[in-house]
Amino acid sequence: MYVVTIDVEKCQGCGECADNCPASILEVVDGKAQMTGDPADCLGCETCVASCEHDAITVSES
Ligand code: SF4
Ligand code: SF4
Repeated sequence: MYVVTIDVEKCQGCGECADNCPASILEVVDGKAQMTGDPADCLGCETCVASCEHDAITVSES
């Protein structure tokens, strides 16, 4: 299982991570990215990490 961590201090709410996530589990809520889908659906692809110009996302494996 993958753990996606969003640093709300760094997140600018641009939505790039949500737009590019192939599992469609990320969404911008109140100006900050959040995982609104099932965390178990995360593919661990790190597309969200690559999409974020603000280094606000990290993906780790638990
Ligand atoms: S790409 Fe980065 S800055 Fe943009 S919404 Fe996602 S986490 Fe926030
Ligand atoms: S690692 Fe891939 S599947 Fe998981 S949240 Fe990021 S973009 Fe989506």
